[in-house]
Amino acid sequence: MKIAETVTFGGSGLDRAAEMRGQADSLRAQENARVILLWRGKPMILNDEVTRLPMTHPIMDDAAPAMIFLGREDGAPVFAADLSQWEPEGLDTDTLNSFLDPSEQRHLAMPQAAFAELRAVMTRLSPRDAELAATAKAIMGWHRSHRFCARCGAESEMAMGGWQRNCAACGGHHFPRTDPVVIMLITHGNAVLVGRSPGWPEGMYSLLAGFVEPGETIEAAVRREVFEEAGVRVGSVRYLSSQPWPFPSSLMFGCAGDALNTDLTIDLEEIEDAMWVTREEMADAFAGNHPKLLPARKGAIAHFLLEAWLSDRLD
Ligand SMILES: [Zn+2]
Repeated sequence: MKIAETVTFGGSGLDRAAEMRGQADSLRAQENARVILLWRGKPMILNDEVTRLPMTHPIMDDAAPAMIFLGREDGAPVFAADLSQWEPEGLDTDTLNSFLDPSEQRHLAMPQAAFAELRAVMTRLSPRDAELAATAKAIMGWHRSHRFCARCGAESEMAMGGWQRNCAACGGHHFPRTDPVVIMLITHGNAVLVGRSPGWPEGMYSLLAGFVEPGETIEAAVRREVFEEAGVRVGSVRYLSSQPWPFPSSLMFGCAGDALNTDLTIDLEEIEDAMWVTREEMADAFAGNHPKLLPARKGAIAHFLLEAWLSDRLD
């Protein structure tokens, strides 16, 4: 797909400088080093930009000592620091745990900027800022959920600028995980197959998706998921575009597939509903003119693929 990398989180060609990860501590001491901040997975944003601060900024008093080395921008090292230990005043934890947390938190040392849910701001960020924020959020999430060695159970330590954890007890090395997910534009003639999960906003339908299982190809995962969820057999499958999706650590493989049958047998354990939607109806939904149907959220690869399908840009 020619426009594949224009998807949200499609990447900005960040120089990740992997060869310098072993010297992350000395890079941090460089005067031109900059740091972006995350609080419980939410990047600090100012005017739709991810804020880059010097290491000496007073807000860093609340940052965790270990930082993630994200790479270099114009030769200057860029890090990510975690401020999750900081407790804002009057914090509403119910809102924080909602699907699209609308709340923003402001730190007294940097009151003009705010920590904002990445899903809420992702479409407004530049490709570079989106890549930095997605990378930092995914890596920090991995450290949070992989504190202990999977081989022996001892507590492991962050190494290589955050791109590894080492276990002193058994010598094990652990690396950040990325979970492959297929998401598929299944079409039959003029119609596309969409489904919805329980708890989504009323009327919202999106493309079917599911995790790739061990020992399975991307194509096989597409066919299996569509048959399991909707009872539709899929013939040829082709890859379209991918999207890192740091909620918490997925890599979405966007694929197109041709349906071999149209009758639906919905697995209600997996999805709430599925249906075929014609190109005209989907175009109305995207224009906000459909009486019932709401399209997938902007920024998600489902929205990107459906939009490309509607405008004949899947090639
Ligand atoms: Zn171990």
